[in-house]
Amino acid sequence: MCAAKAITGNLFERRTVSVLPPLPLAGPYDYVVPEGLDIEPGDFVEIPLGRQTQRGVVWGEAKGDVDPAKLREIYGVLPVPPMGAVARKFIDWVSAYTLSPQGAVLRMGMSVSDALDAPKPVFRFGLARGITESDHNVRITPARKRILGFLRDHPFIDQADILRETGTGASVLKGLVDAGLVKREQVAPPSPFSPPDLTIGRPDLSDDQEKAADFLCEKVAANRFSTILIDGVTGSGKTEVYFEAVRAALASGQQVMVLLPEIALSAQWLQRFRVRFGVEPALWHSEVGQARRRETWRAVADGSAQLVVGARSALFLPYKNLGLIVVDEEHEHAFKQEDGVIYHARDMAVARGHLGGFPVILASATPSLETLANVEAGRYERVVLGQRHGVAVLPSVEIVDIRVDKPERQRWITPTLHKRLLETFAAGEQAMLFLNRRGYAPLTLCRACGHRFQCPNCTAWLVEHRAWGKLQCHHCGYNAKIPDTCPACGAEEKLAPCGPGVERLYEEAIQTFPDLKIEVATSDNIAGPKAAAALVDRVHNHEVDLLIGTQILAKGYHFPMLTLVGVIDADLGLAGGDLRAAERSYQLLTQVAGRAGRGERPGTVLLQTADPTNRVIKAIAAGDRDAFDQVELSERMKYGMPPHGRLAALIISGKKENEVDEAAWRIGRVAPRGDGIVVLGPAPAPLSLLRGRFRRRFLLRTDKSVKVQAVIQEWLARVKTPGSVRVQIDIDPYSFM
Ligand code: ADP
Ligand code: ZN
Repeated sequence: MCAAKAITGNLFERRTVSVLPPLPLAGPYDYVVPEGLDIEPGDFVEIPLGRQTQRGVVWGEAKGDVDPAKLREIYGVLPVPPMGAVARKFIDWVSAYTLSPQGAVLRMGMSVSDALDAPKPVFRFGLARGITESDHNVRITPARKRILGFLRDHPFIDQADILRETGTGASVLKGLVDAGLVKREQVAPPSPFSPPDLTIGRPDLSDDQEKAADFLCEKVAANRFSTILIDGVTGSGKTEVYFEAVRAALASGQQVMVLLPEIALSAQWLQRFRVRFGVEPALWHSEVGQARRRETWRAVADGSAQLVVGARSALFLPYKNLGLIVVDEEHEHAFKQEDGVIYHARDMAVARGHLGGFPVILASATPSLETLANVEAGRYERVVLGQRHGVAVLPSVEIVDIRVDKPERQRWITPTLHKRLLETFAAGEQAMLFLNRRGYAPLTLCRACGHRFQCPNCTAWLVEHRAWGKLQCHHCGYNAKIPDTCPACGAEEKLAPCGPGVERLYEEAIQTFPDLKIEVATSDNIAGPKAAAALVDRVHNHEVDLLIGTQILAKGYHFPMLTLVGVIDADLGLAGGDLRAAERSYQLLTQVAGRAGRGERPGTVLLQTADPTNRVIKAIAAGDRDAFDQVELSERMKYGMPPHGRLAALIISGKKENEVDEAAWRIGRVAPRGDGIVVLGPAPAPLSLLRGRFRRRFLLRTDKSVKVQAVIQEWLARVKTPGSVRVQIDIDPYSFM
């Protein structure tokens, strides 16, 4: 404090500090601290900004770039705990890494601005000590007597309880307070989150599980930064194992954050969590209502929410004493935020652990190549769970060559898969068909003139959703009624769906198995936690024989009676051809396959493919992940791609195509050159039109040693672009659209 005062003292003897508003502006601004106001870095304050009142965080010493005489005064400090030094450093770090303004990063953690208001005060009432009724010349009415009697037995209680139990009115109680017989005290509002129950016993762990859990608990006890990968096959008990580390961190009085890729679909996970810790965790994701968000934000800040389970944005909450982060399914692309501040939550979680000096646990059955490379380089440690828990074994995987084993025309279930489905149902077991395509058909075509239905706002075909009678764009949400005639040639009844989506597969399934209970599950009908939980119940209660769905079914579901998984088109994810297409496809298919045979009955997975020699397909069938990873890593090395080299993308977009091209051309003219730096582009993005904006892309590939952020900053400083053209920077891109 003294030091800060001395440094910031100036001509006018006024103390100045910098304050960061949660806005995508340049950074913190200097303000004057009014006389008598006690301010520390991290305090949430109210400030004038332009003509408005803003809220922000005291970021540190004044920058001194503006004449102190021109600075405005801070209005006041808000009644919430200050943001800790680590949380502030983290925001600076994310801002520097992603090349986003600090205020834009801060905004992700201040999205509930009314959480900063004083909560409604809570009062408790009790008998005033040392004063008796006769000391005062107070008339003791029967109602007053009832309250005094009640308070004698219930020493410290709130107004609602008193009035209810004594059948009196608020004015009677107030009279007693005014008379000095009853005292009123303001207390901290109770936390909406109960502390976890740490006395609940853990399940009997297998030897492997126990070794892994012990290792993690040692890391927690060491209370130092480390990153540990739990590399365990599907169903090996990764969750049970990291729950032990969570318990250890809680027992030492620290907060824990668990990041899940799709929390809305995590009903089963949450149920296990409740059983293990006896409480509800504090949930943080986009579907949490406003009032709950406010409470949660405050409880995280004051430390009373000890366990936070959230989507990626939970990283930016103002934790009081965070001591462990778990990133479950660390390979999931859902951890990459693709708009606003573009960041990967897994990587930011590791950075957060580094700054905070605590361990970070990553869990997956199909770790990302980035993480595996970090293990190989010794930066991350690894514990391995090679077997499924209990008697469950990994499913056997078989390849079905659809060129030989042909389905009927306009059908997608091969004779082999059909036979296996029949056997499965005859045995009283359940099956799942996986097709990662929502809707009825991915393309609609006029058989008379060849016209294809395209989105007017995007470079994308419209997807038929027959259940709604609509054609829809999966990028921008544009939709239109399915017409009767072709809009191009006017031909009637010539429009034909091309290829299958899950709705079309469902149509085939109900025709093939009219007596079975069949359900479709996609993000269209299983949108929230309630729908997901209900689906889980129906499958458990065997109200479903055959489940048909998209990648939402690949998530960690555990259905013991599900023994057959049919992958309708195993080649689908390989078609994209981007850097991670093979890796992503491998991960997704392995996760889908991992739904089979998780109970006592062994499972089978059939992969329908037209390319049975493809290395992804072969590796899954052989169950040889290491071989796949090694080949994939060496391919990446050959081309200097991540994790061996670094990538960054620039996306130039705007509403006028000529302006975008002009800006892209000018940026391209001053592109960086140098050792270990390659710039590709500008090129039209694969989605060269998205939501009505034209898009051009640059891809920057550098050696690992190059400071890619500095290169981009220098690059963009050399060129001016008009305000109507947006330049987005994507460090470590995962989407190449
Ligand atoms: P993973 O996350 O590796 O896929 P889970 O943690 O979901 O595996 O475990 C798979 C199933 O096995 C779950 O139903 C889980 O409750 C059960 N399980 C795992 N380990 C144990 C154990 N030690 N005791 C009892 N049940 C276990
Ligand atoms: Zn569109």
